[in-house]
Amino acid sequence: MVCPFCNAEDTAVIDSRRNSEGSSIRRRRKCPSCDSRFTTYEKSEIELIVKKRNGNLEEFQYEKLQKGIESAFGGQEISEKKLKGLVDEIFIEVKKSGKKVNSDSIGETVLEYLKKENEVAYLRFASVYKEFSNVSDFEKEAAEFN
Ligand SMILES: [Zn+2]
Repeated sequence: MVCPFCNAEDTAVIDSRRNSEGSSIRRRRKCPSCDSRFTTYEKSEIELIVKKRNGNLEEFQYEKLQKGIESAFGGQEISEKKLKGLVDEIFIEVKKSGKKVNSDSIGETVLEYLKKENEVAYLRFASVYKEFSNVSDFEKEAAEFN
């Protein structure tokens, strides 16, 4: 951390404190060149943590969701603007339930949105997501549109 007073390259941490939730750390720093003291805050940039089916936790990846939805649309026309809008809506919806979500609840939310948006994309996403084991499941889903 560069000293904001004299621009010295290295400053020393003299105190570190977590906030009550542990989501940020406040550090008191001291510059060895000019003896100035200042405060910095360190905060995680992870907005959303996804709990996968196997129990692993990973950072939510916006691009991954976008790619999944884009491939559900396949060769069909969807503008980049519309695709991004859809991903944004889904992301906002998913975040409402908290900072940590199950990958399944993301999948369900995507399905809800695709169902309203485009039935072919919905069915394609559903078939990948639910890993349909037999034809009857697929027919059951398809029947909902009739
Ligand atoms: Zn300094």
